[in-house]
Amino acid sequence: MNIHEYQAKEILSSYGIPVPRGRVALTADQVERAAKEMGGRCVVKAQIYAGGRGKAGGVKLVHHPEQAQDLAKELFGRRLVTPQTGAEGLKVRRILVEEAVEISRELYLSITLDRATSRYCLIASAEGGVEIEEVASTAPEKIHVLDIDPFTGLRSYQARKTALALGLAGSVCEDCVELILNLYRCALEKDCFLVEINPLVVTKAGWLMAMDAKINFDDNAIFRHREYPDMLDYSQLDPLEISAGKYDLAYIKLNGNVGCMVNGAGLAMATLDVLQEFGAEPANFLDVGGGATREKVAEAFKIILQDSDVKGVFVNIFGGIMRCDVIAQGIIEAASEVHCTLPIVVRMDGSKVAEGKKLLQESGLNVQVGETLGDGAARIVGMLDKN
Ligand code: GDP
Ligand code: MN
Repeated sequence: MNIHEYQAKEILSSYGIPVPRGRVALTADQVERAAKEMGGRCVVKAQIYAGGRGKAGGVKLVHHPEQAQDLAKELFGRRLVTPQTGAEGLKVRRILVEEAVEISRELYLSITLDRATSRYCLIASAEGGVEIEEVASTAPEKIHVLDIDPFTGLRSYQARKTALALGLAGSVCEDCVELILNLYRCALEKDCFLVEINPLVVTKAGWLMAMDAKINFDDNAIFRHREYPDMLDYSQLDPLEISAGKYDLAYIKLNGNVGCMVNGAGLAMATLDVLQEFGAEPANFLDVGGGATREKVAEAFKIILQDSDVKGVFVNIFGGIMRCDVIAQGIIEAASEVHCTLPIVVRMDGSKVAEGKKLLQESGLNVQVGETLGDGAARIVGMLDKN
């Protein structure tokens, strides 16, 4: 789960990590007022659930409150497209106005979960800022990674080694040791999947400050933090993901044109692989889970059809707990309700499969029944080619 930069900075600040003075604004007038409060010269930062804003014009230094207001009017009116947003970009609904800070150095610091070791790791680089991806690919030796042992935790000698690797010395180095230890405490206590400061700056006056912050909470731990769901900014989420969430369905948007309805994560992965093998590109997949009802299947089907990239639907379901005739009824109900004429291929197996297939074949929909996973994939490719 993502949160905005300003929220991440509030959390970091509560762990004693210095952040610039700032205010969040919802209108251009508020941006102007906040800019006045900061003394006129300030940094205007679009708040979206993606990085790369600096290069896309979403982070700018301005010199007068009116200039801040004009920039805000322009930002509020559009979707910001960065390398991390996809072509559609994200709506700007909140703007952070911060005091301008004189920067002497930009560093990179983050703690994230390493899936390979199942541990937190500390990542640091002396070359932080907007080119960090470039540094990672062209000069990986400039990125320092430290595995954190969950039993001993992060020790101060390790934090000091990292601070030294960042080229820090004297009091700034000691400040950085404390900051790194606080960052680790934050990651642990807040159940972060990622907590990233980029850039972590050394100011001209010689202080450390988190100039940008990104926090991503581990979805599996949200139940331990009742306040997290209230922090979500729904304007930043895919509306279909929101409606899927309401029905407790897992919906993932992808780039192709075949909508996929499956049950179970393993079957979902296999379905995506086989579709690609047959030359089809999935537009999304929706996992209806184990014991879905007819209503749930119908909702899932409607969500898939609302994705305008979907030109055909592939359903691959094993009816173990779920009965195939119930699944068929859900599909027929949803497809008829929204007058779906798109090609549909249903491949199912398990209890009441004969009844399910019969219902589909007599439904009058543009539907074919696949015998095997491969046969089903070949059929949807064939039906799409004809269209
Ligand atoms: P991102 O591009 O989405 O990661 O946005 P950042 O918040 O990291 O901002 C991009 C860049 O803007 C930073 O790397 C800094 O170089 C610059 N920047 C941000 N805030 C300030 C500031 O207060 N003063 C100055 N001089 N530069 C800033
Ligand atoms: Mn950044």
